[in-house]
Amino acid sequence: MNSRVAKSFDLLVLGSGPAGSAAAITAARAGLSVALIDKSAFPRDKLCGGGITGRSTRYMAETFDLRPDAHLFLPSTRFRLTFSGRTIGEEAQAPVLQMTMRREFDAELHARAVDAGAQVFAPVKISAIDTDTPSITLADGRILTGRVLIGADGANSAVARALYGRAFDPAKIGFGLEVELDRELIEDNTTEIDLGAAQWGYGWVFPKNDTITVGVGGVHVKNPDMKAHFRDYLALHAPHLDAEKVKCKGAFLPFGAYRKVPGRGSVLLAGDAAGLVDPITGEGIAWAMKSGQYAGQAAAEALQHDKPAMDAYMARIGYIHREMAAARRIRALIYATPVRNYFPRAVERHPSMTRRYLRLLAGELDYADLGHKVLWRIARRLGASLLRRPA
Ligand SMILES: Cc1cc2nc3c(=O)[nH]c(=O)nc-3n(C[C@H](O)[C@H](O)[C@H](O)COP(=O)(O)OP(=O)(O)OC[C@H]3O[C@@H](n4cnc5c(N)ncnc54)[C@H](O)[C@@H]3O)c2cc1C
Repeated sequence: MNSRVAKSFDLLVLGSGPAGSAAAITAARAGLSVALIDKSAFPRDKLCGGGITGRSTRYMAETFDLRPDAHLFLPSTRFRLTFSGRTIGEEAQAPVLQMTMRREFDAELHARAVDAGAQVFAPVKISAIDTDTPSITLADGRILTGRVLIGADGANSAVARALYGRAFDPAKIGFGLEVELDRELIEDNTTEIDLGAAQWGYGWVFPKNDTITVGVGGVHVKNPDMKAHFRDYLALHAPHLDAEKVKCKGAFLPFGAYRKVPGRGSVLLAGDAAGLVDPITGEGIAWAMKSGQYAGQAAAEALQHDKPAMDAYMARIGYIHREMAAARRIRALIYATPVRNYFPRAVERHPSMTRRYLRLLAGELDYADLGHKVLWRIARRLGASLLRRPA
């Protein structure tokens, strides 16, 4: 059926997660004809903590006109920072984190992109991507051509593979494991991040409306047995469960290994496909929405002014790249051995460090705002904790 029939659009968007839906809605509103292509029909599951930070909340309002409501979100203001189960920082009135289930959240973003005029091709299988034309051939023979193609197809991006031969560098990729537990299995309603639960990563407990998400994640090569970390962390929170029998799921995330030039010519990468996950907090949803919006704007500008889409994209994405680069520099102060054991002590002694971490998470502060003074202060506090170490 439909064999070899070509259909032309201004813009092809592959993947309708937060990045793809943001690109599609932005471009459709700018008057472009948009094909939004996904291997899944929506709603579909996506493994994720579903932590929507203040930054994400801002971007989802800006791009999708979507504001937190009780149906999709659970607001959480109680926060605990721990290290291998020991509390090192606590805030009863933390900046609000909105907790959501990605199945419903992504379906809402997708629906808003469709309402704006994007034409959906889902669920579909892709048999080829031509990054020169650009075009996408579907497994049923249909060919979709575009003047611009945005690859928003996640960490294992087929568009990135078509451009570079592989989607990510295995030496730098992150990996996370998660389980959704019944709400009553963990009574505590506090959002928790445990910096000792994995190497170059952390564990999390995120309360949701109907479930509690427990997970661990970090740089893959530093955690060859992530499952063991997961079992240990789960045992801290749900000792009554047989951790061996709990079925967790895993997924890759590009934990700070972003592409400095995300695309080529008329092909742009956004979100996880471009490696845009914060290397300290693991936040990816905000950066997916923002880079998707930038990519959609760049496509519109390229078509309007007959210029390479990549030039228009690079002119916008600098802000995100600066944040990723600054976070990477700070990350070593938190996660590298031997500092790793002293960072918790420094946090314990200086509650302002937890507050700053929360303000970063909330999007009230950028890494760039921290500047050299704060880096020095963190380094000094680490030094002081080192000197005070027990004999
Ligand atoms: C365990 C874990 C926990 C996380 N927790 C958080 C958190 O709490 N907060 C946060 O901000 N971030 C979190 N992240 C990161 C966040 O999930 C990602 O950064 C975010 O989903 C990126 O959005 P995206 O649109 O780029 O990609 P995705 O959300 O992965 O969407 C990609 C889309 O492309 C489609 N697709 C993929 N391949 C193809 C193909 N070949 N053909 C057609 N369609 C395709 C998929 O079906 C999907 O719909 C977490 C990640 C993991 C792994």
